[in-house]
Amino acid sequence: HSAKELGLDFIRYTPAMKLRTQSKVELENDMRKGLDRGEFFLEFQPQVSLDSGNTVGMEALVRWNHPTRGLLSPGEFIPLAEESGLIVPLGEWVLRTACQHNKQWQDEGYEPICVSVNLSMRQFRQYNLADRVDMILKEVGLEACYLELEITETMTFDIDTAFEQLHSLKRLGLYISIDDFGTGYSSLYYLKTLPIDRLKIDRSFVKEVMLDGNDAAIVSTITTMAHHLKLKVTAEGVESKDQLEFLKLQNCHEGQGFLFSKPVPAGVFESQFLTRLVG
Ligand code: C2E
Ligand code: MG
Ligand code: MG
Ligand code: MG
Repeated sequence: HSAKELGLDFIRYTPAMKLRTQSKVELENDMRKGLDRGEFFLEFQPQVSLDSGNTVGMEALVRWNHPTRGLLSPGEFIPLAEESGLIVPLGEWVLRTACQHNKQWQDEGYEPICVSVNLSMRQFRQYNLADRVDMILKEVGLEACYLELEITETMTFDIDTAFEQLHSLKRLGLYISIDDFGTGYSSLYYLKTLPIDRLKIDRSFVKEVMLDGNDAAIVSTITTMAHHLKLKVTAEGVESKDQLEFLKLQNCHEGQGFLFSKPVPAGVFESQFLTRLVG
C-alpha cells in the first residue's frame, strides 16, 4: 500500500527529516565529497554599529548546495556534522574561507572589518585548536584582530578547559564572543572568569522586545551588565525599526538582523556593505 492509500498522505517530509532517514555513513560520504567538490559556500551578514549605522563586522554562515537535495541551511546539516565529527574539517574549511574572503577584501582596498566565525563544540574541544587557528591565519595572511570566534554558553560548561582554550586563542590576538547569549547555562561566574570580548543577545529575546516586558527587561539587563563588565554587546535578530530604537536607547553597541540585511553571498556583501578606503 502506498502512503496515500493508507491515508498517510498528510505526512510532509521536511529536508531535515529526509536527511535523518539517510544513513550516517552515506551522509558522511556526501559531506566529504561535498567538501572536495566545493558544494559548501559562505554567506555573510553585516554587523552594524547602532551609533553610526556603519557595517563594522560580518558573520560568516555556511550553506550546502547539495547535488540532489538543493540548498541546505546549517540547521539541516551542522548537527549531523557534529555527530559524525565531520564538523572539524568542515569548520576548518569555514574558518579558512572566511579569513580568505576577509583578507582578499582588505587587499582590494576596502576598509578592514572583523569577520565572525561560529565554532562548534567539537572544534572547541580540540587540544590544538589555537595552533590550528594560528596556522590558518598565517597561511591566509590575515591579522588576528580581524577575526572573531563565536562560541555558545554550553561550550563553557567545563570552565577550566574553556579557560585554557580561550586564553590560548586570545594570545593570538583575536576576539571571542558568546553567541545566543541567555539561552544556555545562566552562570555569571564564567563571565567574570573567561577572557571574552562580546555578548550576542539571542534573537529569541529581541523578537518580542516591544511586546513582552520580560524580554525588554532581559535585553536591557544584559546590555547594562555588558557595559559594566566592559564587554561589547550585539543584538541578534533585529527585524524592525522599533526594536532598533529600543536597542539604541539601551546603548546596545551593534545589531545584526534582517532589518539591516539577510546573510548574502560574498559578492553581494562586497558591493553592498564594504567601503573603499580613500587615498
Ligand atoms: P547563529 O550563529 O546564531 O547565526 C545567526 C542565525 O540567525 C543565522 O541563521 C541567520 O540567518 C539568522 N538570522 C539573522 N538575522 C535574523 C533575523 O533578523 N531574523 C531571523 N529570524 N533570523 C535571523 P543560519 O545561517 O541558518 O544559521 C543557523 C545557525 O547555524 C547559526 O546560528 C550557527 O549556530 C550555525 N552555523 C552557521 N554556520 C556555521 C558554521 O560555519 N559553523 C558552525 N559550527 N555553526 C554554524
Ligand atoms: Mg553565530
Ligand atoms: Mg546566534
Ligand atoms: Mg543560533
